[in-house]
Amino acid sequence: MKIFVFFGPAGSGKGTQAQYLKSDHGFHHLSTGDMLRSEVNSNSDLGNKVKSVIDSGNLVTDEIILDIIAKNISTLTSGNDHAGIVFDGFPRTIAQANGFDAILSSMNLSVDQAFLFDLSLEASLDRIAGRRIDSRNNDVYHINSNPAPESVVPFLIHRDDDQPEKVTHRYELYKQQTQPLVEFYSDRLITVDCELTISQIHAQFDQQIRSFEHKF
Ligand code: ADP
Repeated sequence: MKIFVFFGPAGSGKGTQAQYLKSDHGFHHLSTGDMLRSEVNSNSDLGNKVKSVIDSGNLVTDEIILDIIAKNISTLTSGNDHAGIVFDGFPRTIAQANGFDAILSSMNLSVDQAFLFDLSLEASLDRIAGRRIDSRNNDVYHINSNPAPESVVPFLIHRDDDQPEKVTHRYELYKQQTQPLVEFYSDRLITVDCELTISQIHAQFDQQIRSFEHKF
C-alpha cells in the first residue's frame, strides 16, 4: 500500500490533484480539512471544539489531528483493500510527521512519496479570494478560472477562513510550521510549481506520477 503526503499553501491545488489520484489511480483521498469541516457541520463535540480554531485560520492541535488520522487509517488498512492513500493537508507540522511515522511503522508502512505544492503568498491570496466550495460534497471551484455550473451555484459557499486577512495568517503559519517538512522529507520529495494554471499543474503532476508509476 503506497502512502503519499501532499503539503503546500492554501490554494495550491493539493485537493484537485488528490482527486485525480483518486479517480485515475484508485487512491483513497484523506483531507484533514474536509474531515474537520464535516465534524463542524455535524455539530459533534470535536466539531464544536475546533470550529473557532479553523475559522480563525489557526492550526488544530497535533493531538487531535493524529487521533483523527489513526482512526481513519486503521479503517482503510483493515481487510483486503490495498489501494494507496493520499493525505491532503497532513502532516502540517514536524510533530505530526513524527507522530505519523510512529502510526505507520506500527502497521509496517511508511511515507513513500511527499509532494510540495509550491505557491507564493500573492498567488495564494488571489486563488482563495475567488475560491467557492460546493457545500454538499466539498468540490472546489473558482469564480474566474473554474466557474461552477449553474445548477451548483445555489450550493456554493465562501469559507470563513478564506477571508484575505485569514489567508495571510495561514500562509505565515505555513511558512513557520509546515515548510520545515521540506527538510524532513528531503529524501523522497517532489516539488510541483503551482503558479501555473490547473491544467498545466495537472500535466506536470501527471508526468511526475507516470515517471514512477511502475512502482505502485
Ligand atoms: P487549505 O488547503 O485551504 O489550507 P484545509 O481545508 O486543508 O485548507 O484546512 C483548513 C483548516 O483546517 C486549516 O487552516 C486548519 O485550521 C485545519 N487543519 C487542516 N489540516 C490540519 C492539520 N494537519 N493540522 C492542523 N490543522 C489542520
